[in-house]
Amino acid sequence: MGIEQTVDLKGLLPDELEDLAVSMGMASYRGRQIAAWIYGKGTTDIDEMTNLSKEVRNQLKEQSTILNLQPVKEVWTEDGKTVKYLFELPDRRRVETVLMWDGKRRTLCISSQVGCPLDCHFCATGKMGLVRNLTAGEMLDQLIWVRRFLLERDDDVTNVVMMGMGEPLLNYDPVVRAIRLMNLSYGPQIGIRRITLSTAGHVPGILRLSEEGLKIGLAISLNASNDVQRDQIMPINKKWPIAALLDAARIYQQNLGRRITFEYVLLHGFNDSREDANRLVELVKGIPCKINVIPWNPIDGEPFRRPPRPVIEQFVETIADACITATVRYSKGDDIAAGCGQLFQAPSLSTSQSGPTFC
Ligand code: SAH
Repeated sequence: MGIEQTVDLKGLLPDELEDLAVSMGMASYRGRQIAAWIYGKGTTDIDEMTNLSKEVRNQLKEQSTILNLQPVKEVWTEDGKTVKYLFELPDRRRVETVLMWDGKRRTLCISSQVGCPLDCHFCATGKMGLVRNLTAGEMLDQLIWVRRFLLERDDDVTNVVMMGMGEPLLNYDPVVRAIRLMNLSYGPQIGIRRITLSTAGHVPGILRLSEEGLKIGLAISLNASNDVQRDQIMPINKKWPIAALLDAARIYQQNLGRRITFEYVLLHGFNDSREDANRLVELVKGIPCKINVIPWNPIDGEPFRRPPRPVIEQFVETIADACITATVRYSKGDDIAAGCGQLFQAPSLSTSQSGPTFC
């Protein structure tokens, strides 16, 4: 007989946990009980699963483990409304997760990759290249840890955005699996409509997601008002230019019946003129959507500038005048480098990567 392999329970879907229970000689409903412990209560110690017999627990301990990520660092903004956690993964690589309090919302921004291969020129994570994809368990555990912290304070996460480090659609299956687990009724119970995935514009991924049957929100990082401009800052545009991206957005919108969010990082003197705003309006015309304008958060070594407030306001007003909802996201946490696109880990453990890759 070979050496028995242990399986990590976190990341398995309830029916997979049922199959596992059966394969271990237990009744299948045990699988759901285990799921409720791990995903609902955030249990990491099999001995706490008191509705399982001691014998069953011992068997589980022999044959399985439960991932338990811990933050190695946390940084709070001065106003106490945003905290950035640095989670260490089992292979000692690290990812960042950002929790934001905003009125009644507690939004958690989750990372899907260590680094990112897309090399958007205005983004810090892109400077790392892709180190590796996260597993479903590693994405989910960012949420489970933060929920445990909040629940002790009679608080809870209300919204999740897959908008941290990485391009979620380049890690498709684990991301979808993690989303299903976040939504689990006896798990974290994050409403499916309160989960948003943000993509730099991976067209095949958007089309696949539109068939997935998950009513999650889709945010698309448009960031430019024409292809010439977008080519200069987002290499992915050379593969899937704006027209193809907007076609995919239309399909997603029609299939899911949800408004699309277009994100637009404002770079002063580059994409923030009134003409840009007018072109943007023309591009999205006919797509039920809103536009989220994000004044650029500075990162080292990049030649961009954040626009002054009047320019930001003029940009937003021009969009609003065309009857399209526009909001400005003055990034929460930019004083602790937790704003959009500022998430970066020194690449001490990273593999080297030559150019941007898309698939
Ligand atoms: N890869 C995904 C999710 C991560 S980036 C995507 O591209 O959507 C999340 C958002 O932050 C994107 O809208 C991106 O355009 C924006 N962003 C990246 N760098 C930024 C920066 N330095 N300042 C402001 N927004 C930034």
